Amino acid sequence: MSLRFSIDEAVQKLLPVAEKDKIQTVWDRHKDQQPQCGFGKMGICCRICWKGPCRVDPFGKGAQRGICGADAHTIVARNLIRGIAAGAASHSDHGRHIALTMREVGKGNASAYTIKDEEKLKRIAQRLGIDWEGKSIRELTKEVADASLEDYSRQDSKIPCRWAELTMTQERAAKLKQWDVMPHNIDAAVAEIMSRTHVGCDADPVNILLGGVKGAVADYTGMYLSTELSDALFGTPAPTVTEANLGVIKEDAINIAVHGHNPLLSEVVCDAAAMLNDLAKQAGAPGGFNIVGVCCTGNEVMVRHGVPLATNYLSQEMPILTGALEAMVVDVQCIMPSLGAIAQCFHTQLITTMSTTKIPGATHVQFDKENAVESARKILELAVDAYQRRDPKRVNIPQVKEKAIVGFSAEAVIGALSQLDAHDPLQPLLDNIVNGNIQGICLFAGCNSTNTLQDRSFVELAKGLAAHNVLLLATGCGAGALAKHGLMTQEATLAYAGDGLKAVLTAIGQANGLNGPLPLVLHMGSCVDNTRAVSVAVAIAQKLGVDLDRLPLVASAPEAMSEKAVAIGTWAVALGLPTHLGTVPQVLGSQVVTEVLTEKIKDITGGYFIVETDPEEAVKKLFAVIQEKRAGLNL
Ligand code: SF4
Ligand code: SF4
Repeated sequence: MSLRFSIDEAVQKLLPVAEKDKIQTVWDRHKDQQPQCGFGKMGICCRICWKGPCRVDPFGKGAQRGICGADAHTIVARNLIRGIAAGAASHSDHGRHIALTMREVGKGNASAYTIKDEEKLKRIAQRLGIDWEGKSIRELTKEVADASLEDYSRQDSKIPCRWAELTMTQERAAKLKQWDVMPHNIDAAVAEIMSRTHVGCDADPVNILLGGVKGAVADYTGMYLSTELSDALFGTPAPTVTEANLGVIKEDAINIAVHGHNPLLSEVVCDAAAMLNDLAKQAGAPGGFNIVGVCCTGNEVMVRHGVPLATNYLSQEMPILTGALEAMVVDVQCIMPSLGAIAQCFHTQLITTMSTTKIPGATHVQFDKENAVESARKILELAVDAYQRRDPKRVNIPQVKEKAIVGFSAEAVIGALSQLDAHDPLQPLLDNIVNGNIQGICLFAGCNSTNTLQDRSFVELAKGLAAHNVLLLATGCGAGALAKHGLMTQEATLAYAGDGLKAVLTAIGQANGLNGPLPLVLHMGSCVDNTRAVSVAVAIAQKLGVDLDRLPLVASAPEAMSEKAVAIGTWAVALGLPTHLGTVPQVLGSQVVTEVLTEKIKDITGGYFIVETDPEEAVKKLFAVIQEKRAGLNL
């Protein structure tokens, strides 16, 4: 039965355990929701005011307008961009948290943190136009944090967000300004969406969608600064070998999963676990503390420290079902409320850490940057305590895991290429794009959804595109899926890459002393780290003297689910990328909105959405787009 839900063998092994113990999982609840409301699926129900809810009959027989007169196009567009606002708010709040912590570091507070990558800090300063000569690292840290926080507070609408304007091609920035979708202030862009979609405001679906594009560019801004400042604080990822899937949970250790998105606490938990490992041994666990990752907090510590990934979004309940997880420490975003109830069926401590994300059934250990070390210590103690209650008879760890080579930040990619050409690292990549060894580049991003068979589309798309010599990058739970299924290995390159791609990845791998190729898919980080791929793309575009929409570059979110994914997909389109969705967006109730997103926006940005639920067809469509882009460059 479990074969219908996930292609992940570890999940398949654990679902019968859940069934036997009568523990509901995400897939049971998905079944309980069937049939899901067709109005909602098409985006044509509105609950914006208390005269509603209103819904529009998609067959034209019943009501065609809500009580206020809003038609399907207005309703669909408003619903969509409110999702973008939520996504932008989530990513940007994450970025704000990092920037505020960095400012405290600059002021000499927040003693749990230091600047681990000073060179990156200087590069960021340079990008933001801050002179770093003669300044101490602390002074520079504060100035960079303050400059970044201005993107949250600027009131002059004529001055664009610096992190947006300075990180894209000039041509792209000019285009976004021309269409009035370049934000001057991240928070203002989010507030503007909420304001213009209040009852009785913007009713023009195209104008509403443009407001959504501005919100999505604000999302990009918050994501970009979040990633870059995190690198300065915690170190820029470099290639490292680790493992992925539930087999990384160890029977002889005290297992702690870090889950959510924000690395501020998980970094300190990792440090504290290494320092206090004897606590675990004294408690009778010879393996000490074993930190594993879930979702994007997992990706953050995976790409920076090689912490193994237990699982991705949809299977986040599974680590608890192993019966060997002492604590699941969560911060923000993508944490299923069900974890509280499931943890109570085992000895697992679910530990919430943020005042904005509390879950019934969890123990709350408040995390603040000022008390980060004490919070981490308390978490370890709770895990030790839980370990005493572990029931060995209920331990059931699927012995399923794959090796994964991860940590391909933009700097790591350029660094690897520099072994081929130290003076001009991008040139070998360009040469191979021009000669066709690499036909194009695809960025896999986004989540898991119960609307698809978990992980299948990621795996099939990656194999299909690699066979067509498409270079593959991945972030977020997409990266988690590809790591779990062994596609971040040298073996996968040898097995699935087309001859041209294999030759290039082998040449780079050999030049870097890997005694073989680079992995088939390059793991760039968590879902907030998608901007790493943009920085590589912008460097290529600038070198070629073209804008991003001319490059043979596509994005794919085969299991898009969250509002953050809606925001990311929309900024990818705003930057000019044809962007594949493997789940059907909730917009089909409006022909106007559907046409704008899949066709007409191409005339403005060069990017557009491609909706295709069949992975085999998606490979064909994405490869056709890559061919079209190559032809446009006379390649
Ligand atoms: S805003 Fe209009 S369409 Fe929406 S619930 Fe209120 S009356 Fe109905
Ligand atoms: S990729 Fe999607 S599901 Fe996974 S953690 Fe990020 S937003 Fe959540």
